[in-house]
Amino acid sequence: MLSVPIAVTTADVDALLPQTQCQRCSYADCHAYADAIASGDAEINRCPPGGDATRRGLSALLERKDDGGLTLANDVDAYAPEHVALIDEAACIGCAACLPVCPTDAIIGASKRMHTVIKDECTGCELCIIACPVDCIALVPVVTPANRVHATLDERASQVEMLKRSYDAHKTRFFARGEAKAEAHAPKVMPDKKALLAAILAKAKART
Ligand code: SF4
Ligand code: SF4
Ligand code: SF4
Repeated sequence: MLSVPIAVTTADVDALLPQTQCQRCSYADCHAYADAIASGDAEINRCPPGGDATRRGLSALLERKDDGGLTLANDVDAYAPEHVALIDEAACIGCAACLPVCPTDAIIGASKRMHTVIKDECTGCELCIIACPVDCIALVPVVTPANRVHATLDERASQVEMLKRSYDAHKTRFFARGEAKAEAHAPKVMPDKKALLAAILAKAKART
């Protein structure tokens, strides 16, 4: 356990995180990472979308005297700022595997129909890319209200609120309807895409 010099709450920490919900910190979402920091179980330098503003804010909140938390941890995956997901609609098989993992519900489409991304609501978190069994989603550089980089926490405040609202709605929508299992929001792991595709095709065959 890391030393937390002063008592902070999960809410205090969560308020400084960007609410991108990308899981690069190795936690299920921003709130889970905030909880780990407040409990002294995680360092403050695991959030790439938060950038310097988040690390400086967390360092100040915890009254850190060292600068150990100010450099991004080197075991954290890179994050492409100001990018969005683009689905190759010709290649999309309509499996809907990308829907439950999208924290902002930025993907529209129904089972067996092609899917598309609403770019203004996409943060570029890449969770759909990891989930897609046929690799038909790529990142492209586009600046949107959901992914615009802001230099300070104050400038970022309205974006953070918007992303938090979207994620709360996403959780309510998917968990209430039982369409997303808890695993959909577990820290990301590279899926066995061949096995996933085989399972999807087998299910489709059984239905026909
Ligand atoms: S790395 Fe992603 S999930 Fe973790 S705190 Fe940052 S934005 Fe949230
Ligand atoms: S569409 Fe993909 S990249 Fe964009 S927010 Fe949703 S899961 Fe993340
Ligand atoms: S996961 Fe990929 S193939 Fe499946 S619906 Fe989404 S974009 Fe289409």
